[in-house]
Amino acid sequence: MSENYNAMWTDLGLDLEAHDMLLNVLGQAYQDIYLAQENRPEGMGYFDFVMSEVHGLRIKELMDEKAIGRKIIGSYCVFVPEEIVLAANATLVGLCSGADFATEDVERLLPRNTCALIKSSFGFKVGKVCPYLESADMIVGENTCDGKKKSYETLGGMVDNLYVMDLPQVKSENGKALLKAEYQRFKAAVEDLTGVAVTAGSLKTAIQTVNAKRAALHRLFTLRRADPAPISGLDALLANQVFFYDNPERFTDSVNKICDELEKRIESKQGVFAEKTPRILVSGCPQAVPNWKLPMIVETAGAVIVGEESCVGERGTRNLTDESGETVEEMIDAIVDRYFMVDCAIFTPNPDRLAHIEQMVADYRADGVIHYGLQFCQPYLMESIPVETALEEKQIPCLRIETDYSMEDVGQLKTRVEAFVEQLR
Ligand code: SF4
Ligand code: SF4
Repeated sequence: MSENYNAMWTDLGLDLEAHDMLLNVLGQAYQDIYLAQENRPEGMGYFDFVMSEVHGLRIKELMDEKAIGRKIIGSYCVFVPEEIVLAANATLVGLCSGADFATEDVERLLPRNTCALIKSSFGFKVGKVCPYLESADMIVGENTCDGKKKSYETLGGMVDNLYVMDLPQVKSENGKALLKAEYQRFKAAVEDLTGVAVTAGSLKTAIQTVNAKRAALHRLFTLRRADPAPISGLDALLANQVFFYDNPERFTDSVNKICDELEKRIESKQGVFAEKTPRILVSGCPQAVPNWKLPMIVETAGAVIVGEESCVGERGTRNLTDESGETVEEMIDAIVDRYFMVDCAIFTPNPDRLAHIEQMVADYRADGVIHYGLQFCQPYLMESIPVETALEEKQIPCLRIETDYSMEDVGQLKTRVEAFVEQLR
């Protein structure tokens, strides 16, 4: 990190010793997993810089925004609409939850059989190591899976700024009406926090800003269809992860620059791995930063990941919001329409997700699918069985993995992934 940010971290109430420990582990993992890759696009240098300053410069930028009266809102789910946040002059940041921390303390607050993602979000709070969480003026929880919605009852007692959004579980007219009512309630709460009313003008600009971010990722996704793959799954996952906390315009520019470079690579048939390397689609639970475990295993086992059917990936960003509305009401409707298409496993039934997985297999010319389920995540583990059955009926090989954030099962997973890759060859 280029500057000493200790004073800023202390002001935010971080535990400096624990935080140093986290940054050291993160830095080493980044070195071993990311910087050790070969043939990376030069444009990834931007993301290397972002990661090296993830708790430094970006937090300083957020603190500078706060100093001039802008509010920061933290979120744990892709259902929290960034368009509304931006339109009310606030900044949305994802609260990562991709690494174990303070697990013993967390297990005094939550049952042991809670998924790693929820435990991680608690660990970052209990361990006082997340400057995003501590700088947030509002933390948005959402009633999605049982684990999350019940854990927010406990989190509500640990922070003084938790806002809980209710979410539908069924894709019906009633479900859509609930989502609309909740987005209107959220808009009012954000306006109340910032003191800034959402206008047709500000909402239109916000929709365009968020769409541009998504469109840049769509461009990247499309380029990943090429063989040889012009970018590794690890690097593409990183772009998907940084989507959640970088400055929106800068993120869009940086991804588009990488895409310019990848287009040239594709023209000259330059890839990160050799042509005909087995291509894998990963589907399932979100892989929040710094959870790089599965792509690290897959891409050191002789395969390349060409797509993520995940909230940190295409499920989270695939659809754009219609930009043609002229009134706030029309634009809220467009936002509701867009988010209501997200096919999270909390919905029942959830046939769109299977259709999307099959579509992605075809689009990205994947040879097989790895279903990534976090241990104790009922929605995705439940869906993994029908997903596997349906894929195999179509002769698409599928490997179901159930894991957590620890490194204990890396050897065992590696053996299973290597056997799967062999089968794909
Ligand atoms: S998997 Fe579901 S609950 Fe989790 S971030 Fe995605 S939409 Fe939200
Ligand atoms: S991974 Fe599964 S159990 Fe964990 S928060 Fe997401 S949906 Fe809930």
